[in-house]
Amino acid sequence: MTFTLTEAEAAASVPADLLDADFYAFQHLLTDREQSALRDIRAFLDTEVRPFADDLWERAESPRHLVPRIAELGLYGNGFAETRRFENSNVFRGWVALEIARADPSLATFIGVHSGLAMTSISVGGSAEQKAEWLPRLGAGELVAAFGLTEPGHGSDTARGLETTAERRGDHWVLNGAKRWIGNGAFADLVVIWARDVADDQVKGFLVRTPAVGFSASKIERKQSLRGVENADILMTDLVVPERDRLQHIDGFRDLAVVLRLTRAEVAWQGLGVAVGAYEAALAYAKARIQFGKPIASFQLVQQKLAVALSNITASIALSVRVSQMQDEGIQRDHHSAMAKAFVSARVRETVALCREICGGNGIQLGGESQVDGIPPGYGVARYFADAEAVYTFEGTYDMNTLIVGRAITGIAAFT
Ligand code: FAD
Repeated sequence: MTFTLTEAEAAASVPADLLDADFYAFQHLLTDREQSALRDIRAFLDTEVRPFADDLWERAESPRHLVPRIAELGLYGNGFAETRRFENSNVFRGWVALEIARADPSLATFIGVHSGLAMTSISVGGSAEQKAEWLPRLGAGELVAAFGLTEPGHGSDTARGLETTAERRGDHWVLNGAKRWIGNGAFADLVVIWARDVADDQVKGFLVRTPAVGFSASKIERKQSLRGVENADILMTDLVVPERDRLQHIDGFRDLAVVLRLTRAEVAWQGLGVAVGAYEAALAYAKARIQFGKPIASFQLVQQKLAVALSNITASIALSVRVSQMQDEGIQRDHHSAMAKAFVSARVRETVALCREICGGNGIQLGGESQVDGIPPGYGVARYFADAEAVYTFEGTYDMNTLIVGRAITGIAAFT
């Protein structure tokens, strides 16, 4: 009996152009056309994104110069017919999100806010005129969008606590309030603002064109996770928004929940990209780093960490593929997305910690060219380690998504 694969067996077990971390070859479920598109996207990310990601992260800058290039590749739009270039599935979109986050989680979040949260808000809640006005230009990368839900005093409890007010006065509305953590918020051309109608107490969505009198946004500094996403604090003081810029098909928080249901599944894929990026960095490091005269990859305890990391990734891919298939089948509910986001982000957190540990002291340094006495840097594992914390927290914290699943299991809401 042999315990090692021959080179030919190893080559046959994983097709050369599939992601090695896709251990169970889930990418075989994609069509040839989708696999080929994914290869092109990966090539773009490897040459135009990955080499610059650490520097942008350190400088806390979004890769705004990539906005038109990403549009050319057809990566904006959340699978909606109005904007998508590929005739593809949510499973495919998930793999794209994974690939982008694998190269740069900050870029994945930038796109997730613009294309996922903001464009999906318009796709779900906009009238035909609003979709026609905004989606093509956002899809073409002519404009950048943001999504303003979270407030300084309300993150997890926005459904009941949202304090930003909207008051109708004739053919326009007057908005007052504050928003926090708004990705792309300091430079976006369009910000989807969620506010409570003082007349009926319902949450409504508004398309705020910036700059605008009564609207100010300032970049949040000293962030230590997803530094390549520029988040903003937003203040609105008697901001006037015409009725034609109110999302016409949003009548309350339930409609906003539809947006989150659709985007949350993609956030699970994004988290997966963070885990895969860290795993690949740790594996490369483990093969290169010599201790006790051998590569550390030859030690059982290091192999165990790599095996746990890959098992986490494999289980998370299985869950994410299925939830995206359910989205394609039209049977995905809030609790399905919530379980995927909660489960995957918890596994991601464990995975990046193991991967950082494998890289030892070098695992807390950003990657780059620097080598001291032949010691390879930590291949950027530190960036994935830090970025996992934000993914664990946004689009519903682990706790909130778990409570959504708990409500589905028991029929009892335990949020308060
Ligand atoms: P809190 O709600 O204050 O929660 C603090 C802790 O208490 C958490 O652990 C939470 O799970 C726990 N908790 C709260 N309530 C309960 C409960 N009932 N039971 C058990 N535990 C509970 N928002 C936007 O609107 N647009 C964006 O573009 C955006 N981008 C973001 C980007 C980044 C990098 C980050 C960090 C955040 C972003 N957010 C954005 C905000 C994000 O969605 C919130 O941070 C998130 O919803 C959590 O809210 P909070 O930070 O106010 O935490």
